[in-house]
Amino acid sequence: MTAPFLTAFLLAGSFETGVVNYLIVDVRTREVVRSEWPDLETPVPAGSLVKPFTALAWAGEFPEFTCKGRPDGCWLGRGHGRLRFREALAVSCNAYFLNLAEGVNAAALEVVASKYGIPAPESDRAETRIGLGADWRIPPLALARAYCELAARAPEPRVAEILAGLARAAQSGTASAIGRGAMAKTGTAPCVAERRHAGDGFTMILDPAEAPRMAILVRVHGVPGAEAAKSAARILRAARTGK
Ligand SMILES: [Zn+2]
Repeated sequence: MTAPFLTAFLLAGSFETGVVNYLIVDVRTREVVRSEWPDLETPVPAGSLVKPFTALAWAGEFPEFTCKGRPDGCWLGRGHGRLRFREALAVSCNAYFLNLAEGVNAAALEVVASKYGIPAPESDRAETRIGLGADWRIPPLALARAYCELAARAPEPRVAEILAGLARAAQSGTASAIGRGAMAKTGTAPCVAERRHAGDGFTMILDPAEAPRMAILVRVHGVPGAEAAKSAARILRAARTGK
């Protein structure tokens, strides 16, 4: 970590809300640019950050789906209503993705995971496939590189649809703390650290949106994903200016 970056990072007060870990990977070379993460190779559950990979295993056009909220297993009690894919990804609708995950073939998901360099889920439950629980664990470095691979495959129509959802997430969805100009995804997962918090918030950023040069993965212990996005926004600002 370079001194100017460290200064910017500390001035931003990113350590106040919980322990913050972050990892910056160069999209082109896949090398780690900077990291403050003690165990980059140790697989961890990363919540909804897995949703793009389950979506890639879906065969055919993405469906429309009506989320009625809690009865459908969504985190948003009142429901998201009728959703197309992009919006569902932007707001991270669990009901939409549970419906998708139930129709995904396990072998197809294994192929996607292998192509993107991440382990496949250890259970075939739809909940696991959308990042609920702790049965789909991915090393943080592999996860950041999998998002680099998404950026590299932007010309593929299915990937383009996913990236459009990530852009919308940063603009107006669960990662709106990041704002226009980047693509992002939030997640909340059970904490697997020795001193456990209720849950850990994750945010993945691809920046800049039009042609990503860096993937930034941020984890904040003990906060939800949308809250972690605020720390991620500070780290993004520091990373953009700290070069
Ligand atoms: Zn929903």
